[in-house]
Amino acid sequence: SVNTNEAGLFSSGVVDQVPSENGDQVIISLKHVDKHFGDFQALKDINLEVVQGEVVAILGPSGSGKSTLIRCINYLEPYDGGDIYVDRIRVQPGAELIEVRKDVGMVFQSFNLFPNMTVLDNITLGPIRVRGMSRGDAQARARELLEKVGITEQMHKYPSALSGGQQQRVGIARALANEPKVLLFDEPTSALDPEMVGEVLDVIKTLTDTGVTMLLVTHEMGFARHVADRVVFMEAGQLIEEGTPEIIFNNPTEPRTRAFLEAVL
Ligand code: ADP
Ligand code: MG
Repeated sequence: SVNTNEAGLFSSGVVDQVPSENGDQVIISLKHVDKHFGDFQALKDINLEVVQGEVVAILGPSGSGKSTLIRCINYLEPYDGGDIYVDRIRVQPGAELIEVRKDVGMVFQSFNLFPNMTVLDNITLGPIRVRGMSRGDAQARARELLEKVGITEQMHKYPSALSGGQQQRVGIARALANEPKVLLFDEPTSALDPEMVGEVLDVIKTLTDTGVTMLLVTHEMGFARHVADRVVFMEAGQLIEEGTPEIIFNNPTEPRTRAFLEAVL
């Protein structure tokens, strides 16, 4: 594959390596990010660095900007102030965005599977179109992924024939199909019947050991506490507190974090 940095294709969009304080490689970087919807400011001066392999849970009340934040990372929402970098490439329209989206997989609350395609085709579409993979290679890879998420027997069905939990496991397999460096999860279990939450969380849990970097918006507090390396708390468009799960859940500094956790735990 082409090393875009060495090839110098995106000189405007590529920054030099920025190591974090402890020397780990920063893979997602947000600097002074703002986002408006008309007059309403949904994100206010967001600063966040995520290192390779880190699992970061994003918590906060409804409407605090969690979805907007993660959607800005692959430019599903354009941001209007500051800078976002994924693996040193600035997230901006054009050639950079094509590269960024190869590196970023997203899992949505409402699955967002293509209803008119089989499970297998849902998973192979990206690799064939985005990566230029042959159909045969893409299908072989899809079979491996379906095995990983435990639904090989459903591969020729359409999404509507699957349970919510199965659909979301397909959503995860699809997100993994491009071999992303970063996975973004936006409340992946919120639309599921309670008995199906566990099977999806189990799959997500297995991914935390693979070295993929994950940003996870969730209301599953026990799960966040268990799998996250770091927890960030948002309110009213601001990132108001971050820390280890131990600190955030046991001894948050911010009264607003404390109040939220008391209400949901
Ligand atoms: P969360 O995911 O934390 O519930 P969101 O990121 O979805 O919050 O929304 C943050 C704020 O931005 C909310 O007040 C929401 O109403 C507003 N918002 C989100 N998307 C849009 C949109 N497309 N147009 C206008 N306002 C929006
Ligand atoms: Mg949301």
